[in-house]
Amino acid sequence: MRTQDIMAKLQAKYPLEKEYLQAVQEVLESIEEVYNQHPEFEQAKIVERMVEPDRIFTFRVTWVDDRGEVQTNLGYRVQFNSAIGPYKGGLRFHRAVTPSMLKFLGFEQTFKNALTTLPMGGAKGGSDFDPKGKSDDEIMRFCQAFMLELWNCIGPDQDIPAGDVGVGGREIGYLYGMYKKLARQYNTGVLTGKGGTWGGSILRPEATGFGALYFTHHLLEKAGIDIKGKKVALSGFGNVAWGAAIKATELGAKVVAISGPDGVCHIPDGITKDMIDYMLVMRASNRDMVEDMATAYPDKAFFTAGKKAWSIPCDIALPCAFQNELSEDDAKELKANGCFCCCEVSNMGCQPGAIQYFQHNGILFAPGKAVNAGGVATSGLEMTQNAEHISWEAGEVDAKLHSIMKSIHEQCVKFGTQPDGSIDYVKGANIAGFMKVAQAMLEQGTI
Ligand code: GLU
Repeated sequence: MRTQDIMAKLQAKYPLEKEYLQAVQEVLESIEEVYNQHPEFEQAKIVERMVEPDRIFTFRVTWVDDRGEVQTNLGYRVQFNSAIGPYKGGLRFHRAVTPSMLKFLGFEQTFKNALTTLPMGGAKGGSDFDPKGKSDDEIMRFCQAFMLELWNCIGPDQDIPAGDVGVGGREIGYLYGMYKKLARQYNTGVLTGKGGTWGGSILRPEATGFGALYFTHHLLEKAGIDIKGKKVALSGFGNVAWGAAIKATELGAKVVAISGPDGVCHIPDGITKDMIDYMLVMRASNRDMVEDMATAYPDKAFFTAGKKAWSIPCDIALPCAFQNELSEDDAKELKANGCFCCCEVSNMGCQPGAIQYFQHNGILFAPGKAVNAGGVATSGLEMTQNAEHISWEAGEVDAKLHSIMKSIHEQCVKFGTQPDGSIDYVKGANIAGFMKVAQAMLEQGTI
């Protein structure tokens, strides 16, 4: 197979689906060499099949806002690949959600889930519903209307949604309530990220951020660097950034920046426990403004409008917000300010130019599908607990999460070590995930 040929066909077929094309291109470029050593993959047209989702559900979601006005949004579920397990992946509620965005996320999820070592296929879903400024009641009515359409496309052995941007514990609760009413079954395994008293795994909310820091720790260790005392810049202030801030602080690093769509908060002395707790208040307010941190902690956090986290001098950059949030210019600014490591926590958080810049300028870089896999891995652990009707203690979940992240790091090293001894984590993650899914597809025949 030639990446160029496949990309030319996809570009002609989906000319407007920029994020999807970007995600596919990155994976195909990484795997081309290995793929071509396996004529059996080529014969079974594995790549041509793998880049297309198994199916996409699209539905209208109609709900009534607090003023009594009828609102209509679009809802989607992209069931991408089920070669190694039932479809698994989050739901994103954000005004910019399109099929292209969910296709890219579902595609990435397929490889990410393969890296976790757990039996989960790839999926993603969501809606162009914008939670910003919505009341709690509006969020509930929207979630209920969304589930009214989705419920019979999902199931504990079929497709298991979870949270993503704009969908956290509260939304999963409302979604599950409606699912239970419609299905007339207490199937907790149908969604992950549930509340702790009704089937949710302990540490699931923290898991993406914790896992990202475990991965970062192993990556730095391999490079002979101690994370202690290092300055960390985070983007976002949602669930993922929150977990990352807790674990980074616990490991002895200093979180000096968090950011939002409105700008950045510089925290010169490092984020404190109170401030980390306050991130949860900010998320629950649906205001989507990081400036609130500077208002609440005027002596500790200093807000600059319109600036990104990457403008604050740091050693380690952790994009935790949205795809393509870090550009090549940002990468240059980070380097100029002394940054030596960027671990992508958001899905496809770095633009291709930024990744190339990091890789060519001696900055350690690892991609989201490896770094952030701790979230979905802990969802996998939640599914196991649900299936066994038990719940594990925090120490047990944390130890399993840590060992999964260690194994993901090892897979990246195994498949990404270059002839000169350096490690290409992008290649490593893509090849490791691809080989597992491709082999399973091959063994299951032409379907
Ligand atoms: N949305 C998260 C991700 O991007 C979690 C998905 C899940 O737990 O299913 O991996």
